[in-house]
This record gives sequence, C-alpha cells and structure tokens, in this order.
Amino acid sequence: MNVITNEAINEPTLNFIEEIIEADLASGKHKSVLTRFPPEPNGYLHIGHAKSICLNFGLAKKYGGKTNLRFDDTNPVKEDIEYVDAIKEDIQWLGFSWADELYASDYFQQLYEWAIALIKKGLAYVDDQTQEEIRLGRGTVTTPGKGSPFRNRSIEENIDFFTRMKNGEFKDGEKVLRAKIDMAHPNMLMRDPILYRILHAEHHRTGNQWCIYPMYDYAHGQCDSIEKITHSVCTLEFDVHRPIYDWFIEKLEIFPSHQYEFARLNLTYTIMSKRKLLELVRNNFVSGWDDSRMPTICGLRRRGYTPESIRLFAEKVGVAKRNNVIDLSLLEWCVREDLNKRANRYMGVLNPVKVVITNYPKDKVEMMDAVNNPEDESAGKRQIPFSREIYIEQDDFMENPPKKYFRLSPGNEVRLKYAYIIKCEEVIKDESSNIKELRCIYDAETRSGAGSTRQVKGTIHWVSAAQAIPAEVRLFDRLFTEAYMDNIPEDKDYKDYLNPQTLQLAKAYLEPALAVLPLGTNVQFERLGYFVPDKDSKPECLVFNRTVTLKDSWAKITAK
Ligand code: ATP
Ligand code: MG
Repeated sequence: MNVITNEAINEPTLNFIEEIIEADLASGKHKSVLTRFPPEPNGYLHIGHAKSICLNFGLAKKYGGKTNLRFDDTNPVKEDIEYVDAIKEDIQWLGFSWADELYASDYFQQLYEWAIALIKKGLAYVDDQTQEEIRLGRGTVTTPGKGSPFRNRSIEENIDFFTRMKNGEFKDGEKVLRAKIDMAHPNMLMRDPILYRILHAEHHRTGNQWCIYPMYDYAHGQCDSIEKITHSVCTLEFDVHRPIYDWFIEKLEIFPSHQYEFARLNLTYTIMSKRKLLELVRNNFVSGWDDSRMPTICGLRRRGYTPESIRLFAEKVGVAKRNNVIDLSLLEWCVREDLNKRANRYMGVLNPVKVVITNYPKDKVEMMDAVNNPEDESAGKRQIPFSREIYIEQDDFMENPPKKYFRLSPGNEVRLKYAYIIKCEEVIKDESSNIKELRCIYDAETRSGAGSTRQVKGTIHWVSAAQAIPAEVRLFDRLFTEAYMDNIPEDKDYKDYLNPQTLQLAKAYLEPALAVLPLGTNVQFERLGYFVPDKDSKPECLVFNRTVTLKDSWAKITAK
C-alpha cells in the first residue's frame, strides 16, 4: 500500500469516473446521470461512507443528474430501522439530498420473478447441499470446482422447489437457489453463486412476508437496473463481482447499469469496518456510535467536525484506482482550514494557575476589547472582563526557564492578550512545593489598543478569575496506536492496538461569553484549538470537546 500524506495530494483534475461520464454523455450512451448511494442499514455511517456519499452525490450534481438513496436491506438479521434513520440524518447533515428513498426490499417481488425467469431459462437451480458441501464443491483458485449432484434438476422440479422455499416449507439452510454458470470459471465467484437463501427472520420493512432473501450479488445489480442507475460506483474489492453483475443483466435482458470501482478510503490510526465499530460500541470501549473518538459521521459531528470540512476532505482525497492509506492529519487539516475562517475566538484556560496582580486595584473590573475573528471582520468584537486575579495556563509559566523562553518566569515580562504587560515578582507554593499562586505587577501604560509602544516577546491568554466559568473539557487522542491497522500481524487482534489514553479530561476556566453558546457552535480557544459544546453540556456544568488542536504554536499569536 502506498501512503498519501497531506503534501502529496494535488489539486483535482477530472477523475477517472468523471472521464467515463463525460465520454458517455458525449457519445449519447446516457442522456443524464443517475447514481445511487447503497448503504446496508446494519450500522452507522463512517468517514469512508462519507467519501462514497460525496462522490456519488457530487458526480450527479456536477453533471446535472440525480442520486438515489437505496437501502441494501437484504439481510433482516443484522438490519434495523434505527440505522435507517441515522443514515438519513447523516447524509442530510453532510449537505446532500437524494432524489428517491428506496429499499432493495421494494424489489423483492421483481427479484423473485426474475429468479423464476432464470430457472425457466435453465440458468438457476435449487441445491440441497449444506453450506459446507457447497463451499468444498467450489474448488480452489488453482483447482476447478465440482458440479453439485442437484445441478441438473429439471426446470419443473426447480420451479416446484423454489416456490416451496418461498412458501416456507423448508428450514433455514435446507436449500438454496444457485445460478448455473461455470464450476470451472477462473473467477471463483462465478462458480454457481448463490442467489437466494432461506431465512425465517422478520424483516424491518416486509415483516414475515418473505422467508427467502436475495444475496448481495443477485440483488445489487438488478436494483441498479430497475432504477436505471447509469453509473454504479463502488469500492475496489467489488471488481471481482463485476462479471456476476454483468451476467445477470445480460441473461435477464434488463437495463444495462454499469459498475465502476474506486479505492476505498483508509485512514491511519483508524478502522472502518462496521462490524468492528459495532464491537467497540457493544463492548463499551467507546460510549456509543457518536463517541467523539469514533470515525463515524455522528462521532465526527459531535466532536465538532463540520459538513464543509468533511466535504473538503473527500475532495482532497480524490478518486483513486489503487488502494492507499490517507494520513489522519489531512482530515485535521481540513477542519482547521474550515474553522479558521468561521470560528470565533475565545479565551479559555485548561490547566489553570492563579495570578494575582498586586498593584491592580482590588475591586476594579475593566472590560477589554477582543476581536472575534481576525479572519473575518464581520464577526465583530466583544468585551472580556479583566481584574486583579486571573488564571493563566500552567504551561505558560516556568520557574527555571531555558534560554529563549518568552512566556512568564520570575522577573520576566509577558503580555496578556487584549490587556496589559505583567511581570512575575513572586512564586507562592504550598507545603508540597506545588505552585499555588503567582504574584505579578502590571504596567498600567501598556493597555492593548491604547497606543503603548512597549513590546515584549511573549503573549499569553488568560481569564479573569471572578467571572470565569468552570467547565469540563474533553481532549481526545486517536483511537489506535498503530497507523496501518490493515497491516497488523495475523495473530493479533485489532483491539490489541486500542490506545489506552484516548480521552483526557481537563477542568477549565472559560471567559463568560462561552456560557451562552448554542449547542454545536464551533469556537476557537485561543492557542489551544477548536472546541464545540458537547451534548452533555448543561448550564450548571458546561462540557466542551476539542475538535482539533491548532497547528500554530503559542508564539505566533500577535499582540493586539
Ligand atoms: P461493512 O463494513 O459492513 O463491510 P460497508 O462498509 O461496505 O460494510 P455498506 O453500507 O455496504 O457498508 O456501504 C455503502 C457504500 O459505501 C458502498 O457503496 C461502499 O462501497 C461504500 N463504502 C464503504 N466503506 C467505504 C470506504 N472505506 N471508502 C469508500 N467507500 C466506502
Ligand atoms: Mg457492503
């Protein structure tokens, strides 16, 4: 696998699917474009699905076409309406609207009739072998398979058995319907694939109407064809399924949809399998599908990712024909890029240490002008209170600093952003030698914006203690310790690589304006990163999630 990093990603030109579409439109093969997004409602959507959504909806949009949302609900045992609703919510949140909301189960009757048609053409048969016998009979990549003893049943007998399968006369696993193709075909999937299996299970939409359910390979292409999908885009691992897709369309003589494969999205330090993500939820490794550490769309949303940032990411990733792994830092770069333009800045201190400004009047509170967003003048200004007692970040003070340390240290000066220059005069410690308080003096001539020309090298953030709002802040780390989760040794389990330190809680102090933010408002805490109020947030106990850190270091903040 080749690794693509942020730097290696070029500006997009036409991707290979766009080239195909343009050729099809130019030659008149298709007059318009109809794509589909076909999720199986057996889990929540993740960032990989987002890539596929952006591609399918994006292609249709670019060429004035439409996209259907089709639930691939052919396995009643694993599927649920909860997932259907969540999937719809996520697609809409990403900013896309589908033309029709459809379900593979809408087509069960048609698919059944086509199965009968295949039987009548001598192209399908009922097999009584066990799953194991069928598997062994398929042969291997190097040896041809053997025909089932039931392969040459008469058409009448096949119709009779298949009808009785449908009518519920047999138990699960007793019989299957198979296509009659070629037991020696070099593509193992063409060695008489299974079309239907018996499953006495209640379906979330069709209830107990059916006890036979079509397999993916039999359902997918025919569903595409019924809807007249022009370009059926799926991930690379389905390229071996394409001959089956085409075989059914050819034999049934139905609308010729075509399948095109692109590389699935893989991200470093992440897994994308719904089965594994479900396992993380069920075993309480995370708090739910929308845990902010999950690569799910609802997890990313809760963490503060925006639809714009995810769409930008999908665009930057592009459409590849070869599998690759995208660096997680690209996703982070995209959300910074978006929020830098839109998120208002605020002051918050995550690991506070108290500063007392001894020469500042005891009861005085000054309101300081602060710029909401230096990238967006229309965001305006606000005022923040300043007083004798403030909190600063523990990291912004060092008792014995190395050379070139420009933040606060004994005898040294630093600027408080939007306020004054202060100088540290005394360090007060408790019995165990922990720093309790820093005593400083301020220079009243240096108020920001008041025309002082005195400069110091460091500028730090702060909040006024009396007005500060306490809050819980959740800082996240990547879910896994290994970058290439697809390459872990065979004898290892993906859970062996769970990062034990993925969540750190901080007791923060925030400026008062942050108390009244509506849920889902993205903000920047100066110098610390982008944050968003969490759904656990209550007026009496605010909770913020850190979406992503800032790339910029503290030194880049300029004094105003
Ligand atoms: P599972 O994880 O259960 O194997 P899946 O990820 O294939 O399932 P589906 O609901 O079948 O889930 O996927 C819907 C669509 O999203 C399919 O067209 C699939 O190809 C696409 N898709 C799934 N994962 C990715 C990914 N990592 N990158 C790009 N597209 C993806
Ligand atoms: Mg799938």
